[in-house]
Amino acid sequence: MRILIANDDGIYSPGIATLAEVASKFGEVRVVAPDVEQSSAGHAITALRPLSYKRTPIGNFEAYRVNGTPADCVALGAYHWEKVDVVLSGINLGSNLGNAMWHSGTLAAAKQAVLLGLRGIALSATVARDEPNFDILKPSLEKVLALLLQDRDLSLVNVNFPDEKPKGLRWTRQSVRHYDGKVVPGEDPLGRKLFWFTVIPIEGTEEGTDRWAVEHGYVSMTPLRLDLTNEKELAGAQLRHPLD
Ligand code: MN
Repeated sequence: MRILIANDDGIYSPGIATLAEVASKFGEVRVVAPDVEQSSAGHAITALRPLSYKRTPIGNFEAYRVNGTPADCVALGAYHWEKVDVVLSGINLGSNLGNAMWHSGTLAAAKQAVLLGLRGIALSATVARDEPNFDILKPSLEKVLALLLQDRDLSLVNVNFPDEKPKGLRWTRQSVRHYDGKVVPGEDPLGRKLFWFTVIPIEGTEEGTDRWAVEHGYVSMTPLRLDLTNEKELAGAQLRHPLD
C-alpha cells in the first residue's frame, strides 16, 4: 500500500513525524507537506505562481517540503508518486471538529485526495495546553489506521483524538449546530485597532457528534462526502419554482 502523507502544520511538525512512523507499519510512506504552517488555509490552491519542492527526509522517510498549501502538496505528491492508495493528513496540532472543517487545511488535504480519485483520511489531535502527547495516542492511531485503511468503502474520514489516553473509538456525525469562530478586537502598541478571528470553546454538544465524542475522551471518526447539495432545499425549490 502506498501512503502519501501531508498536513497543514508544515513538514517540521511533530505530528507528521508520528503519523509517518505509525503509518509505515501499513505500507510504503512518502511525506509531501508545506514548508511553513498553513493552518486554516482551507482548500486553497496556489494558482497564480508556480510550485516547487525540496527533499527534506524525516528520519528514514522520504519527505518533501512544498512552497504551497496542503491541497497543493497532495496534488504534487500524487503527480510525482504513481499509484498512491491513500492520503493521510496530520496529525494536526489542534482538533478539526464540527464547522472547523470548513477552515481546516488538514481536512483539505484529505479532500484533495478524494478529488483526485484517491482515499483521504484527516487526523487531528486536541491540544489542551502543551503539544499533544503523541506517545499516548500512538496505540489508538494504529487501531484507527488498521480499521480505516482496510475498508475501501470509506473514501473520506475525519478523525479527531482527545487530549488524554482515548477510551475507545466512536463513529460520529459532524456537529453543525454551533460555530466556534469569533472576532475579538484588540489594539497594537500604537493604539491602532486589530482583530483576531479566533475560536471560542463550545459547550453542550449533541451526543453522537464528533465534538461530543472527543469531549468524552473518545477518538471520533466521521465519514464525510464532498457533495454539498442540500437535497431537501433542492426538492423544495423545484416544487416552488418549476423552470421550463
Ligand atoms: Mn494545523
